[in-house]
Amino acid sequence: MMRDDAALIPLLQALVRIPSPNPPGDTRAIAAFIAETMQTAGYHVQMLAPPQKPEAVNVIASIGQGAPVIMLHAHIDTVPIAADEAQHWHVDPYAATIEDGRVYGKGSVDDKAPLAAMMRTLILAAPHAENLNGTLILVAAAEEEVGGQLGTRWLSQNGHLPHCDFIIVGEQTHNRVATAHKGVIRATVKATGRSVHATNPDRGINAITAMAKAILALETYHRDLAQRVHPLVGVPTCNVGVIRGGSTANAVPDSCTIELDRRMIPGEDPAQVQREMQGLIAQVEVGAAQLSIGDFLVSNWFNSTVNTPLAQQFLACVRQELAADPGPIGYLPGSDAKHLTELVRGEMIIFGPGSYEVAHAFDEFVAIAELHATAHILNAFIQQTIMDRKGM
Ligand SMILES: [Zn+2]
Repeated sequence: MMRDDAALIPLLQALVRIPSPNPPGDTRAIAAFIAETMQTAGYHVQMLAPPQKPEAVNVIASIGQGAPVIMLHAHIDTVPIAADEAQHWHVDPYAATIEDGRVYGKGSVDDKAPLAAMMRTLILAAPHAENLNGTLILVAAAEEEVGGQLGTRWLSQNGHLPHCDFIIVGEQTHNRVATAHKGVIRATVKATGRSVHATNPDRGINAITAMAKAILALETYHRDLAQRVHPLVGVPTCNVGVIRGGSTANAVPDSCTIELDRRMIPGEDPAQVQREMQGLIAQVEVGAAQLSIGDFLVSNWFNSTVNTPLAQQFLACVRQELAADPGPIGYLPGSDAKHLTELVRGEMIIFGPGSYEVAHAFDEFVAIAELHATAHILNAFIQQTIMDRKGM
């Protein structure tokens, strides 16, 4: 059993004490701290931000050379504290209070816990840099909580990230290995009718009634989707989350709008799913009213195998630490993994302590013992893959 690293929890506390809520997504302070820490440890460090949002600073820290190239990725922004959330915290969300074997704080588990474990693992490897047989890269990314377009996707598309043999994306998997998450398509459906006074509704065309038929068709569609099953993340879904229409009870409404959330499983083609929903809406029988679907917003799914020796080694490290089934499992929320798929010439996993169910909520915490286990696994993996080869 590896000894716990006494510097791990203080590092997590330091990270939590530098707020980085998104929106607004200003990561300059936390990025500067990470950059300085990694530079002091001997890493080559870059701080990069997109011209459209110069305050969304990312950090890339690297050491060693050649293959295998192993990337440890975690995001440095957090969700903001919602207006009705602040009163529910039993501690200051940015104080990183330790209580009952837990560190409490905004971002304590999502995503500063995996970030701290990754940073400590890399710092401990740094004194052996001369003998590393490969390259280690830390990506501390901004913008994940708003979709990653100006964070990890921007880094990837602009050539700031190398091709990697193995990528570990830090998120909340209770230290098991996740290899898939769903994608999302958002869409808006509009019904258009003709407004008249409610004394004689038959002279008008009721947009709400038309939309009701579309909603029932979407409910049938949602049920039918359950026939498509992915072994790790389950079934695709379709949810009507918002409805707007009409202005007064004594008029026939001439417009109604709904907003949809369609979750895709790995393997579903986003363009094909959009055509499928367009076809569905086109077939709804609404008489003289008109239905249209548009404003598609796509966030892709992610899917990987664990066949390479590096992935198998990682699973072995998890099994050794947890003495339990290391996975692979599915991960229900999305992650920046979807923006890294073009960089992977090997495989990619999602891994970290805690649960996404305590993220994005009041009293967010990480269990200290679980975070130490995360660090043990990462340490063992780096030692066995990049350091052991030269007989260290
Ligand atoms: Zn996260």
